[in-house]
Amino acid sequence: TRYPLIHESEYSWRIDPSGKMRVPAIIYADETLIREMDDKVFEQLCNVASLPGIVQAAYAMPDAHWGYGFPIGGVAAFDPDEGGIVSAGGVGFDISCGVRALRTGVSIDEIEPVKKQLADALFRHVPVGVGSTGRIHLNDKGMQAMLRGGAQWAVEQGFGDPADLEHIEERGCMRGAVPEEVSERARTRQQDEMGTLGSGNHYLEVQRVAEIYDQRIATAFGLKENDAVVFIHCGSRGLGHQIGTEFLKYMVLAAGKHGIDLPDRELACAPINSELGQSYLGAMRAGINCALANRQIITHLTREVFAEVVPMADLTLLFDVSHNTCKVEEHLVEGRQRKLYVHRKGATRAFGPGNREIPETLRAAGQPVLIGGSMGTESHILAGSVEGAGLSFNSACHGAGRAMSRHQATKRWRGRALVDELADRGILIRSPSMRGVAEEAPGAYKNVRAVVDAAEKAGLAHKVARMEPRVCIKG
Ligand code: 5GP
Ligand code: MN
Ligand code: MN
Repeated sequence: TRYPLIHESEYSWRIDPSGKMRVPAIIYADETLIREMDDKVFEQLCNVASLPGIVQAAYAMPDAHWGYGFPIGGVAAFDPDEGGIVSAGGVGFDISCGVRALRTGVSIDEIEPVKKQLADALFRHVPVGVGSTGRIHLNDKGMQAMLRGGAQWAVEQGFGDPADLEHIEERGCMRGAVPEEVSERARTRQQDEMGTLGSGNHYLEVQRVAEIYDQRIATAFGLKENDAVVFIHCGSRGLGHQIGTEFLKYMVLAAGKHGIDLPDRELACAPINSELGQSYLGAMRAGINCALANRQIITHLTREVFAEVVPMADLTLLFDVSHNTCKVEEHLVEGRQRKLYVHRKGATRAFGPGNREIPETLRAAGQPVLIGGSMGTESHILAGSVEGAGLSFNSACHGAGRAMSRHQATKRWRGRALVDELADRGILIRSPSMRGVAEEAPGAYKNVRAVVDAAEKAGLAHKVARMEPRVCIKG
């Protein structure tokens, strides 16, 4: 790499400020991950480090790879009192994309005999794929209520249980959402898309708990070896994408007026204390509610399928956490408790034990950090750490991270062959798109074990359990 990386500690690397950078860039990774990391990550991180009002450092998680403007796996916090900004590209286009983990109350032995039935029923019942639509059709009033209420709205509509809400970030409802800031176009796109997984790497996966790393925390999370668990990964569908696209454009156009000199057009942003910044935050928070509602509805659909196919199962929510957001949080910086706008793009919030944002039943253990690997490799559950506060504003990786582009992956693998190979290993894939499956080939991702090990050794989060996939419904 042509970037002057200082090997700060075994699992962290620093680029000191130069040129327009206001703060250092810090990357958490081991030697191999750093060596294989796209140079673009360093370039993008240095650009982020030069944005107005950035505090402490621009961070990259061990799964980081090139993204639009900000790297995916990037974390940056801004102080509104120091001209800090909010950036649509810093949140990502799939606003509040995230993962939710459900316990099933049954062991994998009770799933195996009906695995094929389960895969087929999930695939039939949960809408998946490009432009997939669901059984809900929202009129204006319903849309408003959904954008304001998030998963709380979904529960009021009969999707799931009030008890679920306790185990969702923001208790299922993001405050400060302003549906009026969401364009007509964005709402129209979403009308029929509630309760759908969408395409790409969004998935619904049944997994087996293959190994417990921390018995105490696993017990607090209600997990033990051989348990069947469900991961749901999806976001705010067309609505979030439309909000991101529109505000990115507005932010580019207004940069001059706001006196912001953009190192890269893709980093378009607006001061937090500007009309545009506030509009975006209102719309983005409505987008968060859309994602929370979406995962809640999909949970309900999943329960309906389990009730049919695995009647003794009881699906309870462990946690739901987003990895594309900008959140207002208090953090200690330079000896001062400050209210910051923390952007996490492809990075998971990872609050340590005792944090009051964590549901009471999990608080002593730390916030669950849910990390997908790929449809053919392991996934992980970690818990946030106390040190994470000072290291990354309590953030950790969100996945394995791509090691190659979707395009490269389709040249290397065939979807049908992958599905057959995985079936031989007892992993059932159901997807409307074999091209999509090829794009998502397990080999197109980094080594997830190396990524979570680096996250743990850097102190960002603590390993709790490893899962292996059994059934994957794939976008
Ligand atoms: P992203 O949020 O950036 O779109 O993806 C998050 C992460 O999900 C990826 O970095 C990848 O490691 C993981 N992932 C992608 N597809 C699958 C899948 O089918 N199953 C599991 N368990 N993880 C996946
Ligand atoms: Mn997404
Ligand atoms: Mn995601």
